[in-house]
Amino acid sequence: MGIEIEKIRGLFPVLHQEVHGKPLVYFDNAATTQKPQAVLDALNNYYSTDNSNIHRGAHALADRATRYFEETREAIQLFINARESAEVLFTKGTTESINLVASAFGRKFIGSGDEIIISTLEHHSNIVPWQMLCEEKGATLKVIPINDAGEVLFDKFEKLLSPKTKLVSIVHASNALGTINPVKKVIAAAHAVGAKVLLDGAQSISHLTVDVQELDCDFLAFSAHKLYGPTGLGVLYGKREVLEAMPPYQGGGEMIKEVTFEKTTYNDIPFKFEAGTPNIGDVIAFKAALDFVNALGKDLIRAHEDELLRYANELLSQVKGFIPVGTAAEKVSVLSFNINAMHPYDVGMMLDANGIAVRTGHHCTQPLMKRLGLEGTVRASFAVYNSKSEIEKLAEGVSRIARIKNK
Ligand code: PMP
Repeated sequence: MGIEIEKIRGLFPVLHQEVHGKPLVYFDNAATTQKPQAVLDALNNYYSTDNSNIHRGAHALADRATRYFEETREAIQLFINARESAEVLFTKGTTESINLVASAFGRKFIGSGDEIIISTLEHHSNIVPWQMLCEEKGATLKVIPINDAGEVLFDKFEKLLSPKTKLVSIVHASNALGTINPVKKVIAAAHAVGAKVLLDGAQSISHLTVDVQELDCDFLAFSAHKLYGPTGLGVLYGKREVLEAMPPYQGGGEMIKEVTFEKTTYNDIPFKFEAGTPNIGDVIAFKAALDFVNALGKDLIRAHEDELLRYANELLSQVKGFIPVGTAAEKVSVLSFNINAMHPYDVGMMLDANGIAVRTGHHCTQPLMKRLGLEGTVRASFAVYNSKSEIEKLAEGVSRIARIKNK
């Protein structure tokens, strides 16, 4: 049985509005997904009935808030199949999760002459922290090249690997093109030279089953807001032995066992990496997003999104002047394109006038755009609540815009 699209759309209040007098078609899901009512209710409910600081309180509200907070950690453990919930750390987002690894792992385990490998497909948040670290430590950043379809060249990656490689940090699914990287192979090859692997799961987490034990990654970073959850909340998964070997990220309350002016001892994981009052309300509400995804199942979601992508390609490829960007064999539901000689921003503005929300520009992947010889693209990215009739509206809109241009 397929997705019951109207039932699902009914769960997302934001979808039911008009933009510039047209029904909203929301195709900016790779930037952030919309939130089901259950997430909004959970947030409201937390602040209305349970609001309290967690872990230390000796009262009923603190107990409840702590329990719900830790229940989300357990739900994430199951969602990514971590061995234990202590391997799940809360952060502000993918960006902070990557910076945490660069800062804490990097401080201890990356030194002068060491090498870090990323790919051409990376988002700026998986480039800049490593450049900063390399500059500080005298280490070198190496980049896996891609082909014109937007796929990493695995044989070139193998040639970059050496005993100097300490970390490979690679995106699981590209936000700009949708390419799914062959991460299992990447991880196995990196481990063979003794390197650790961080997966940027910001995009893959909502489309693919991400099983950290099966993949055997050392770290996985993702954001709640791209998985139907709240903004300002992210996750860093790390293997226990790796997290335990790392120094803390930030100092403060909660991350300590005992503090004296002479010496401080640190708390066990995950708390060692969670200094200060965390984003309690959003963590608690995020569980409702995970419940929503689990109730449908990733297989059903993926099949629906794949069909949307296939249909979009079918319709748009009939439009004169349509240039797809990123034609990898394995993709999540991201369609990047340009229209002959038109600036992506102009296309985005014209689609917006039709109520269609897309993203335009470099998508925080400037080096990738440079490699492709482009200033940017128009990106339509699909989620579980999108429908085939919305794809038809996109195709009509693009076709109208291309006709104006071709006149
Ligand atoms: N990596 C990828 C692949 C992304 O798509 C994004 C968000 N666009 C990020 C990292 C950064 O995520 P956040 O802004 O939520 O920290």
